[in-house]
Amino acid sequence: MSGPAKKPQEASHSNFIRSVIEADLASGKYASRAWGGKPGPAKAHASAPPDPAKIRTRFPPEPNGYLHIGHAKSICLNFGLALDYGGACHLRFDDTNPEKEEQEYVDSIVAAVKWLGFSWEHEGASHLYYASDYFDFMYHAAECLIDDGHAYVDSLNAEQMRALRGTLTEPGKNSPYRDRSAGENLELFRAMRDGRFNEGEHVLRARIDMGSPNFNLRDPAIYRIRKAAHHRTGDKWCVYPMYTYAHPIEDALENITHSLCTLEFEDQRPFYDWLLDRLAKDGLIQRPAPQQVEFARLNLTYVVLSKRRLIQLVEDRHVSGWDDPRLPTLAGARRRGYTPEGIRRFAERIGVSKADSWIEYTILEDCMREHLNEIAPRRMVVLDPVKLVIENYPEGKEEFAEVPNHPQKPDWGKRSVPFSRELWIEREDFMDTPPPGYFRLFPPGVTPAGDPRPGNKVRLRYGYVVECTGYDQATDTVRCTYDPDTKSGTPGADKVKVKGNIHWASAKHSCAAKVRLYDRLFKVAHPGAGGRDFLQDLNPDSVKVITAQLEPALKDAKPEDRFQFERHGYFVADLKDSRQGRPVFSRVVTLRDSWGKTEKA
Ligand code: ATP
Ligand code: MG
Repeated sequence: MSGPAKKPQEASHSNFIRSVIEADLASGKYASRAWGGKPGPAKAHASAPPDPAKIRTRFPPEPNGYLHIGHAKSICLNFGLALDYGGACHLRFDDTNPEKEEQEYVDSIVAAVKWLGFSWEHEGASHLYYASDYFDFMYHAAECLIDDGHAYVDSLNAEQMRALRGTLTEPGKNSPYRDRSAGENLELFRAMRDGRFNEGEHVLRARIDMGSPNFNLRDPAIYRIRKAAHHRTGDKWCVYPMYTYAHPIEDALENITHSLCTLEFEDQRPFYDWLLDRLAKDGLIQRPAPQQVEFARLNLTYVVLSKRRLIQLVEDRHVSGWDDPRLPTLAGARRRGYTPEGIRRFAERIGVSKADSWIEYTILEDCMREHLNEIAPRRMVVLDPVKLVIENYPEGKEEFAEVPNHPQKPDWGKRSVPFSRELWIEREDFMDTPPPGYFRLFPPGVTPAGDPRPGNKVRLRYGYVVECTGYDQATDTVRCTYDPDTKSGTPGADKVKVKGNIHWASAKHSCAAKVRLYDRLFKVAHPGAGGRDFLQDLNPDSVKVITAQLEPALKDAKPEDRFQFERHGYFVADLKDSRQGRPVFSRVVTLRDSWGKTEKA
């Protein structure tokens, strides 16, 4: 696996998050933090040496789905900043919600982060954590809040609570249970923990301010009863912390300095700070507490990045699975042949901002083209084959064309591609009745003015110049003759000037293979916009499966080998369906952006 080294021109441009970090490093804000070797409360770090990580960031997925390209933005940001500033980035499973989480998702997330080229190791220590490991502390912290009068057990039902919550213009009203004594609250909370109540009978709420203009400070719920088994803690708990309570604590226990999250959490920041301030005052967590910094989430045209919609696509079988090459999941991107380097380049290029916007899918594709252009050997493949017979080429004769593996990289060498009397060429490289300006193969005929005109000449790439002599409809065969003095690379090869330069595969030597041509999964830039059902925007032609003729060298392609098929685009040998000697190829991306054109056509 190659690491995420940056090319000079991709060197991280400055952004507001970097400014915050640089200012904090300059002022030494976090320099006094100690690190006891693993996450823990203040006392666990108290007598430990200074934290060796200059900053700590984290990527905190909930293991309830597969990661997508939006998560990749967050991964590249968090892990990238840690690398750049001598810090550590933690991979933390935010598994505080017992119902939806599964090991399958944990495994896929670990694989995706590694695939992107990042590591949660720092100075020999591994920083992979589970929020559920902090349940004991979270519970203890809740009891401390109760003791201090900062939390109370509310016994209103959800509907009554909503009625007292107020509106944007009206303050909320206090619950009649808000003034329970600390002792009563503690007793009730313990009874909740011990399973003596049903779900929904009570909740623990922070006691802040029902009159606050910020809804998130109107006594938010911090613990609720859930009688569900958890994927790691089993039946140990029947109270679970709410996300808004759990997340700041997870950050604090892990010594996170900069807790980067998407903009929708901006209104949660006052609660984040309120909570950590209370816990620090009680000596439960270290100071300075982590700080939350928000950035705009990635919205990408022509795809959906909501877990709910992705799940629907998979479960309703609009796609073949989580790793369907048309999906924006990282498992799908990998199978599509996208490269980690290309995704990191994309994340760098789009940067971070404070305002939500849409990023054009073509930017992602351009990043892939750029990277694949650098790394993909060239090959000749005929996707839509029609037979070409060279009438004056001796039957049974075979020779080789010497073909460069990469036009800009002579050190990648050449390969010998067999050439013979019968070839496959692209169907679109021949026309029986050519329109004006067509300069590939066409047979002799008459001009619109009624004059006879000869068949056209083209160069067979790395081979000879041929002249079209006719087309046999019955056998669907194009006929031509060749000029033996025009072989590429021999003296005088250029004496005949031609405009067309087409690729081919020798019929006797080529290998037939399945090739999947992917297009966008959605036919509009903003699926589901304007209240439409997003499924109505699915592109019915998002995949076409064809049988192509490959030059022999491709027969031994291994899963995930990537190539440029000359004149067509970049292709990858499918990770799952390729077999030894029988590759199945998928188109990663075309050579140029052709989407806009087909769409208008
Ligand atoms: P959910 O609705 O289940 O919370 P989620 O996409 O937010 O879905 P998480 O597992 O909570 O999933 O996400 C992990 C991290 O990835 C979070 O820190 C979140 O901010 C970030 N993230 C998720 N989607 C995007 C996106 N489109 N752009 C940037 N970051 C994202
Ligand atoms: Mg989330």
